[in-house]
Amino acid sequence: MLDISAYPTEPQEDDWAFVFSGRNTVTSLRGQPGMPWRVAEVSSQWGVDMETAVPVGRWQERGVWAFSVPENNIDLTQQLSGNLYSLLGRVDDGLFHAHGRAYQLLHWRDTHRHCGRCGMETRTIEDGRAVLCDRCTLRVYPRVSPCVIVLVTKGDRLLLAAAAGFQKRFYSTLAGFMEPGETCEEAVIREVREEVGIEVGNIRYYASQPWPFPSQVMLGFFAEWKSGELKLDPEEIEDADWFDATAMPPTPPIASISGKLISHFMERLPT
Ligand SMILES: [Zn+2]
Repeated sequence: MLDISAYPTEPQEDDWAFVFSGRNTVTSLRGQPGMPWRVAEVSSQWGVDMETAVPVGRWQERGVWAFSVPENNIDLTQQLSGNLYSLLGRVDDGLFHAHGRAYQLLHWRDTHRHCGRCGMETRTIEDGRAVLCDRCTLRVYPRVSPCVIVLVTKGDRLLLAAAAGFQKRFYSTLAGFMEPGETCEEAVIREVREEVGIEVGNIRYYASQPWPFPSQVMLGFFAEWKSGELKLDPEEIEDADWFDATAMPPTPPIASISGKLISHFMERLPT
């Protein structure tokens, strides 16, 4: 739905606006869930300075912007404020990705107000695609952090793990950030080894998903058990085990890449 090749240059009243308050996305309780606001509504409800609008792209021939509003300014009788994750699977993928992109760009702008090299205040250039430091000429574009996420299998069984530190326990695929200088395949092997102590092979790429928490892209893989017994890293993993289709634990929603990896594998099992 969102055209990210074209950036709007100036907010117009009829343009679309994604609104965030801290880490939460703010949507209207009226109308379709997760739909963006109009710029005119943002300006009348929150009196937001248009100078702070962050360009996101174009949709339905209108500009799309991201705005940040103060947390004490949310009217919970009219507005819904919640973590972006709460929209996953509740709105269609295109709308979720648009929310995610708006959040990432707002987060990027917020964390690059000053130059990382010399500390000088930055300014946006290239219609908002980058920030520039006028003193030392450092130019910074929005950054995306690649993560590998992998479903390890052993015959018909799936390796699923409950991450440490999550209140709601469910079993998911293993995942972790890529290190500089590493290939995706090396990252898969290292993450699995670090988190559950086994060796994997036959690594195959499946699909990817932007993951705006705050700025990852998840690269999904399948891998097969090669050797070793499960030995969990207690810092990362609370529990992990091999599961088969007859006794599956609670797993992530199908809208997530983890849910898709699991479902893709299960669908291909002999019945
Ligand atoms: Zn600088």
